[in-house]
Amino acid sequence: MTGVDSHCPYCALQCGIRLTADTSGVVSLQPREFPTNRGGLCQKGWTAAQLLRVPDRVTAPLVRDDSGALAESTWDEAYARIVSGIRGAQAAGGPDAVAVFGGGGLTNEKAYTLGKFARVALGTSRIDYNGRFCMSSAAAAGNRAFGLDRGLPFPLTDLAGAGAVLLVGSNLSETMPPSVQHLTGVRERGGLIVVDPRRSATAALTESGGGIHLQPVPGTDIAVLLGLLHLVVHGGHCDAGYLADRTTGWEVVCDAASLWWPERVERVSGVPVDRLRAAAACLAAASPIGGGCGAYVLTGRGAEQHAHGTDTVTAAINLALALGLPGRPGSGYGCITGQGNGQGGREHGQKADQLPGYRSITDRAARAHVAGVWGVPAADLPGPGLPAVQLLDAIGEPGGPRVLFVHGANPVVSAPDSDRVRAKLAQLELLVVADFVPSETAMLADVVLPVPQWAEEEGTMTSLEGRVLRRRRAIPPPANVRDELQIWRDLAQLLDAPTEFAADPAAVLDELARASAGGVADYAGVELARLDAGEALHWPVPQTGHPGTPRLFLDRFATPDGRARMVPVDVTPVADDVRDDAPIYLITGRILQQYQSGAQTRRVPELLRGESSSFVQLHPLLAAGLGIEEGDTVRVTSARGTACGIARLSADIRRDTVFMPFHFPGPGAANAVTNPATDPISGMPEFKVCAVQVTRVDAEVATA
Ligand code: SF4
Repeated sequence: MTGVDSHCPYCALQCGIRLTADTSGVVSLQPREFPTNRGGLCQKGWTAAQLLRVPDRVTAPLVRDDSGALAESTWDEAYARIVSGIRGAQAAGGPDAVAVFGGGGLTNEKAYTLGKFARVALGTSRIDYNGRFCMSSAAAAGNRAFGLDRGLPFPLTDLAGAGAVLLVGSNLSETMPPSVQHLTGVRERGGLIVVDPRRSATAALTESGGGIHLQPVPGTDIAVLLGLLHLVVHGGHCDAGYLADRTTGWEVVCDAASLWWPERVERVSGVPVDRLRAAAACLAAASPIGGGCGAYVLTGRGAEQHAHGTDTVTAAINLALALGLPGRPGSGYGCITGQGNGQGGREHGQKADQLPGYRSITDRAARAHVAGVWGVPAADLPGPGLPAVQLLDAIGEPGGPRVLFVHGANPVVSAPDSDRVRAKLAQLELLVVADFVPSETAMLADVVLPVPQWAEEEGTMTSLEGRVLRRRRAIPPPANVRDELQIWRDLAQLLDAPTEFAADPAAVLDELARASAGGVADYAGVELARLDAGEALHWPVPQTGHPGTPRLFLDRFATPDGRARMVPVDVTPVADDVRDDAPIYLITGRILQQYQSGAQTRRVPELLRGESSSFVQLHPLLAAGLGIEEGDTVRVTSARGTACGIARLSADIRRDTVFMPFHFPGPGAANAVTNPATDPISGMPEFKVCAVQVTRVDAEVATA
């Protein structure tokens, strides 16, 4: 038996686990002590080793043949199809005729190399990734305010001592259950404040004296946050010294908040004035200016996945700044990163406008630095590309992509307006998908490339608190599987790329460290030997021997003048609001047993037994009005499409709202209904709210 310490393959909490392989290569898994999980795991983590044995594993390249079927091929045949497709597309449509869609689950080394492969080997500007659907609004708001985007600029364990935690749009109890233990202290102090249109498992933690649940109309989080700021201002709870010393723009932000008195907030959001006042008082009392033991403001996808999500997060940041929280020990603002490498995956070049180290692709000095590391002329690097929704939408349009690579993503399930995405992919001349399971997107591909999965690869990941972690191999991948680093090196050579591509993850990390050196996300001092020795390295780590930076902003923010930038924001109507023919809000989210598009967790029998198909949660009074009973099949219809699920009646949700999980494909696909309208700054789609009609399916049949 051999054992290695690694981390769970799924979410950004990156719970510590130990993997043990027996002599026949069967891997078992145990939780281990690690700061984020302290020996705990959720069901997904406990069952992760079953992923290594899924029966429909892709173990050989697949190429679509003349009959239209995917058939096993050799690697040479698969490469030949890809190279001829690229050459043909670029001869007809130029470099941007080839596009790349990456993933927030790829290791740092793979995220970095994919960006380099796109810009240098393919010469295309068109690369973006599924993190655009996950973290982009929080990233945009963090960059705008602080000059830097690291999800949590402090270790998660810091939450334990807080007197108040305001959690906007995050259901940690289902998405990251082991993280809830860090909220024990704040619940005991009665300071957990959860903003969610549902009484989620996390909102339920506020009961029995744990805190306060605010249950706003979907899409009105920003009004709630402006109302809280209004009450902080008018209650005399602002930290005037902090605002004067550490921020700019306060006066105009303060003026904007003055328009959001609590009664107006109640009219817009439905949150009662007394609860809003109680939440503001709780935050103020816990803040340093109130003499409390510290307060945090945290946002999740519920706040961020909106066509104005950047503004909602900005409102949360403004509130935190008014209370003097960011950059104070024991207090702060942060966002809860979702995907396993959602943090590292957004730092090293998968984003349309980005070079490694969180550098801007339009910055002359950044281009020169990275081009120097890559050994190519800076002038040869493409400019910014298109964010994910626009990238996929450009397929089939004049000048749009003709070839698409998909790595570590399943946009047919995870993208908004997913039926349209499926139709777009059908217009490609060549779709190449690298995956270890036949995901819904892989099944549409012309070429499927089999790649290793988490316990079969080496590399690094970066957790939700910006800590760089080791992912270790416990067993070798199946014989005919090739690592993405090798695939990109092979293809780069076949395409006569003007530079070398390393296939060894250790060599790639060295190169990444050099490419990121001096950037915002500076990994210059991150070395495998240091990680293997157990050092806790939170970026920036600007040189060898630097201890890392677990807590950011203690002295200054990462803006040119060192001050946080406060930006006034206001309430904007949701892009697809309720109306006579679509009078109900749809909200979407994750459930305990499934992860993201479900391509992995839907293949784990134990998880599938827990939750095997889509459902529609709705209030009993809404259901009664619609003639729907528990267990009925209901159809949810928007201006874009329909999805069906089994009705679950619950008083935990607002009467004007239904909820669907987004993990399921086919008739239950919630994203067939969601709205692709995007945030003008971040490119984030409005997954979290749209107007729908809800009907009972057999009632439709009966009246047909
Ligand atoms: Fe931990 Fe997330 Fe894995 Fe669950 S899915 S065990 S919370 S890392």
